[in-house]
Amino acid sequence: MRVLGIETSCDETGVAIFDDQHGLMAHAVYSQVDIHAEYGGVVPELASRDHIRKTLPLIRQVLAEAHLDAGEIDGVAYTAGPGLIGALLVGSAIGRSLAWGWQVPAIGVHHMEGHLLAPLLEEPAPELPFIALLVSGGHTQLVDVTEIGRYRILGESLDDAAGEAFDKTAKLLELPYPGGPELAKLAERGDPQRFRFPRPMTDRPGLDFSFSGLKTFALNTLNTALADETDPSRTRADVARAFEEAVVDTLVIKCRRALRETGRKRLILAGGVSANRRLRERMTAAIAAEGGETFYPPPSLCTDNGAMIAFTGYQRLRAGQHEPLIFKPRARWSMGDLAPVTRS
Ligand code: ATP
Ligand code: MG
Ligand code: FE
Repeated sequence: MRVLGIETSCDETGVAIFDDQHGLMAHAVYSQVDIHAEYGGVVPELASRDHIRKTLPLIRQVLAEAHLDAGEIDGVAYTAGPGLIGALLVGSAIGRSLAWGWQVPAIGVHHMEGHLLAPLLEEPAPELPFIALLVSGGHTQLVDVTEIGRYRILGESLDDAAGEAFDKTAKLLELPYPGGPELAKLAERGDPQRFRFPRPMTDRPGLDFSFSGLKTFALNTLNTALADETDPSRTRADVARAFEEAVVDTLVIKCRRALRETGRKRLILAGGVSANRRLRERMTAAIAAEGGETFYPPPSLCTDNGAMIAFTGYQRLRAGQHEPLIFKPRARWSMGDLAPVTRS
């Protein structure tokens, strides 16, 4: 079975073809970063309009790269939520229409299930059951996964997502948008000993997170230090490092706790922040020390992409799930409401 995947939930247009014999046959991502950069964040209407411009050309491009005709596609998967409703409508309308024209089944995919399954595209793929830490621009969630499609949310952020905290703190540090990867780069030069940031909500039981306080802590630290400091670039790097240390430590503490409480041995990380090098190093070491194993998506599949949507759609289409000739994208949609994929 060969599935075309289309991702348009936010500011990346992603298209890919997943084949159960050949794996990922082609994938392409077009990022709208330049369009939104001058506004310092994603402008929904501009995002929708650009998805309209880019989606069909990208589909033609991946078909050509995979040396396939449209008639060789067996199903279409598109992101149906959560995300920006206008952006979701573009991918949903295109995906559902193509499937109708090609006379193949279509399925609307949950964006976070896409992120969650991305590590299964890497070798070796983790076996079920496992705990998933989803760390992206809009979500920070710990999920217990017993089978594909059955997701029990163990904890989540009560305010900012981890990626959002990276981006907002990066803005305070006057780094260009989107700030997460830029902050990580700046942190490389920072002194981890100079400032000590809190590890929010680690001193009480539970698996929820809170990251919004770290950004305020960063602002106050920065203002105090810059007031009597002659080397602002050094101070910015030190603040970046202290912030990153705090986020990484907090995520490690909560993941270790989730494994202990559930007795699971495998942890997967997914979403944009799972590309962070320091997070990967520290998490892998901490979980190994507990006798567990940690899995990640390939670095190019941590942030938004069509491959994870094609792969997730494949899991569901293969099980016989598909949708009628309508599409209903949802801006808000809990992963806990998904139906498990039962294989025939
Ligand atoms: P969601 O998936 O929750 O809807 P999203 O799709 O916007 O949100 P992703 O594309 O998964 O999120 O990830 C983007 C986020 O990842 C941004 O906040 C970005 O700053 C962050 N990010 C990407 N690379 C890194 C890195 N190396 N270090 C820290 N953060 C990073
Ligand atoms: Mg994005
Ligand atoms: Fe995402």
